[in-house]
Amino acid sequence: MTAKASATALLAVDVQHDFLAGGALAVPDADAVLAPLAQLALRHPLVIATRDFHPRDHISFVERGGPWPAHCVAGTEGARIHSDVDRLARTVISKGMDRDTEAYSGFDGTPLERLLRSLGVVNLVIAGLATDYCVRATALAAVTAGFATTVVLDAVRAVDIRPDDGAKALAEMAAAGVTLAPSVELAATAAS
Ligand SMILES: [Zn+2]
Repeated sequence: MTAKASATALLAVDVQHDFLAGGALAVPDADAVLAPLAQLALRHPLVIATRDFHPRDHISFVERGGPWPAHCVAGTEGARIHSDVDRLARTVISKGMDRDTEAYSGFDGTPLERLLRSLGVVNLVIAGLATDYCVRATALAAVTAGFATTVVLDAVRAVDIRPDDGAKALAEMAAAGVTLAPSVELAATAAS
């Protein structure tokens, strides 16, 4: 493999058991992201995964007045990244580890930006969960940090507490400069 001056990283956001089918905070149809993610990884072999990795008494949990049931508690099965993604990931970035701080973005309080810079990454392809929370926050932060950022439409799924939350988040990302593309379109681009 030759080194590229403008490397692309595939960022797999929070593909963890608590967000997948049967999880504590299952995102509707979440498992549908796995197949396109695997296909994307064939074309973008530099895969970095993020994970929610909370203490048992995290501020985002209902017991502490937060919006979410307890999820992705560090060391539990629910916090594990799906094996299909975990085995592809070069590095796993943990977030939300401080009990009193929420972190939807993979860049928030993590070494992600430093890692990407050190790898020469300028293009980020983002997939995972959930469109209206951690994908949204991560994509917006990526654009702000100056990365050319693409969110893969068929490789993300939304919580949709309100039915259009996911659609609104996508529109917001597009307005901020994020490219929205289906995985087949990325395939055509990669092949040309
Ligand atoms: Zn969380």
